Amino acid sequence: MSSIKNIPAVDEVLRQEKIAGLFTIYNRSFVTDLIREATDGVRQMLRHTEPETTAGLTRAELTERIVNTTVDLVAARSRGTLIPVINGTGVVLHTNLGRAPLGQKALDYIQEIASAYNNLEINLETGERGSRYHHVEELLCRITGAEAALVVNNNAAAVLLGLNTFAQRKQVLVSRGQLIEIGGSFRIPEIMKMSGAYLYEVGTTNKTYKSDFARAIGEETGLLFSAHTSNYKILGFAQDIKIEDLVELGRQYQLPVMQDLGSGVLYDLSSSGLKEEPVVQDCVTAGVDIITFSGDKLLGGPQAGLIVGKKAYIDKMKQNQLLRALRVGKITIAALEGTLLEYLAGTPQEYIPVLAMLAKTEKQLTGQGQRLLRKLKTTLGNHTLVEKIRLVPFEDMVGGGAYPTYTLAGVGVEIKLAPDQLEPVAQALRQQNPAILIRKQEDSMRISVRTLLEHDQEKIVEGIQKALQTIQMQKIDQPR
Ligand SMILES: *Cc1c(COP(=O)(O)O)cnc(C)c1O
Repeated sequence: MSSIKNIPAVDEVLRQEKIAGLFTIYNRSFVTDLIREATDGVRQMLRHTEPETTAGLTRAELTERIVNTTVDLVAARSRGTLIPVINGTGVVLHTNLGRAPLGQKALDYIQEIASAYNNLEINLETGERGSRYHHVEELLCRITGAEAALVVNNNAAAVLLGLNTFAQRKQVLVSRGQLIEIGGSFRIPEIMKMSGAYLYEVGTTNKTYKSDFARAIGEETGLLFSAHTSNYKILGFAQDIKIEDLVELGRQYQLPVMQDLGSGVLYDLSSSGLKEEPVVQDCVTAGVDIITFSGDKLLGGPQAGLIVGKKAYIDKMKQNQLLRALRVGKITIAALEGTLLEYLAGTPQEYIPVLAMLAKTEKQLTGQGQRLLRKLKTTLGNHTLVEKIRLVPFEDMVGGGAYPTYTLAGVGVEIKLAPDQLEPVAQALRQQNPAILIRKQEDSMRISVRTLLEHDQEKIVEGIQKALQTIQMQKIDQPR
């Protein structure tokens, strides 16, 4: 005999003490919907199991099951879908993980500004309407040496705005070696189309000379454009036009020169071994008219598109109606100002998390690795699903499209699991809050310490313990 007839009515579940407790916090229809969902789940379970295994379930037992499931569902559904992730991958700027974690000053500033009214668009001196674009500008000019600056939603928007402002229904000259695609479908030719500009390809994939550009300039030309090839490298018989030459041509023919840097390095990272990303200040010095870069890549701030350059050109971009659709909000401005203020300090790599991660020395990494190793060995060393825990060298990466061919020497912990346990454990770790992302290698999981933030080590130990427990319970539950 099936137990389906013992499934309680919703009203009966509603009378249970634990459910009544939920009503003091959550609204009635939200909880009732989840009771129905839990009840359906139990009904399905009874239908799909062998009658003899579930036949004896009483009304009280089924009610308890539904109540407990409802409590779990409420816990799962009463938070947003965005949850924190511990990044054990060693990829510093992981686009899928929200790129740069913000520093303390940025966080404090967001809290202060967003929890109150603020002077986003009012000039407090005159009491009249002000401009939101005024806010970050002075700081950006001070740091980069540029005459003027503007901030939009992201770097893709910055490029779009530049192309539309200077080259709508005109030609944009770009070297064939720079027709880039950045992950997540940012493609120079596509952005061109959307901006209303016409792409004019110059030179060849591996060789583009100044003379190629000089020959290509004509009546229809509106803009000379250069994109930093941040996520690939052309090696061998290759040469591309130098930005200085492009600037010279721009002067000669009175055409604006725009450079899309992608990453936006404001602080020389060569002491961390990172020499190839152009530094924004150098591009300003080289005389580039419009320079665009991301706020959340190597700059270490919020998602934003930063534009710096000559005042006459930036002013023209400010007057473009398209800007209204690309504008940033107060939270972005607060986070950006908080981040940029750190660059006024002599040692921004102490305060900006992304820079701090890149600057970690081998000694620091080894120290952190050993601490994590000790903690893991103490709690998990004798676990039946764990075969071996050891320190391993790690190939960390900058990520975010930057330094595609370059790995940073890192340190990590490797946990060798019993056969076939890696997938289920990795999945259990992803489904926790905070979720934990690891790297997989054969039967082992690996965690790099470079990308761990404060207190992540404790959470990792706890998280792995919990994941292993979940896996073990599932094994017991499963009939053979
Ligand atoms: C990352 C990148 C972009 C896109 O920047 P978003 O801030 O993600 O919009 C554009 N151009 C280059 C060269 C990049 O590296």
